[in-house]
Order: sequence, then structure tokens, then C-alpha cells
Amino acid sequence: MPYDPANVFARILRRELPAQILHEDDLCVAFRDVAPQAPLHFLVVPKRPIARLADAAAADAAMLGHLLLVGAAVARQQGLADDSFRVVINNGAGAGQTVFHLHVHVLAGRPLGWPPG
Ligand code: AMP
Repeated sequence: MPYDPANVFARILRRELPAQILHEDDLCVAFRDVAPQAPLHFLVVPKRPIARLADAAAADAAMLGHLLLVGAAVARQQGLADDSFRVVINNGAGAGQTVFHLHVHVLAGRPLGWPPG
């Protein structure tokens, strides 16, 4: 799908909107979710403008892997009680995606049932 540079995460990346940033490097920024669904809930957002996971290409493989490694590293840094966390990518409105800039959710700090609701 086409990428809209006015989306909220693009604005955070441009520092037009505030965020509680936990990590930044050349490829991504991790910041706390504004409406946390668990005691720890942050998002790992690539700097590359991609609307959805489905829009990523083979050339994005290393970047996608990097997002997962950053999610795990930041979760560890935040000091999880039992080392458990969940990683989620919602792809498309039907799957719950509301911000159309690819992002990885990381949630922890409460029991996380399966399957998700
Ligand atoms: P999704 O529904 O998978 O697209 O996830 C979008 C997430 O972005 C939701 O969990 C929102 O709470 C979160 N969100 C929306 N606006 C902001 C913001 N300004 N700062 C941080 N998180 C946000």
C-alpha cells in the first residue's frame, strides 16, 4: 500500500511529536506505546518508510531481523521479572493495524494468554 508520510510514527521519527524513546540507532527507534496494553509495552519502528510488513521486500530482511533483536534487547534492558515477553506485528486493518508505518509491538509484565483475543 502507498506510504503516507503524515502518519503518527513518521511524525515521531521527524521529532514533530513527542515520544518516550527507549532506543535509537541507524535503522530504528523504540518508544513506549501511548496506550500501553501491558506494564511494559513499546514499539520498534524502522526509520525506513514502509506501511505494512506485507510491503517489505527481500532487501529488508536484515532490517526486519534487526527490529526483532532490538525488541528483545530493549525488553531485557527494561528488567523483565520472568524473562517473558510477546512480539506482535499487526498487518492490515483487519488484523488491528491502525498506524500504517510498520512497527513491532513488544509487551510484557502481565500474563499474556494465547490465542490473543
Ligand atoms: P497498531 O494498532 O498495531 O497499528 O498499533 C499502533 C499502536 O500505536 C497502538 O498500540 C497505539 O496505542 C500506538 N500509538 C498511537 N499513537 C501513538 C503515539 N503518539 N505515541 C506512541 N504510541 C502511539
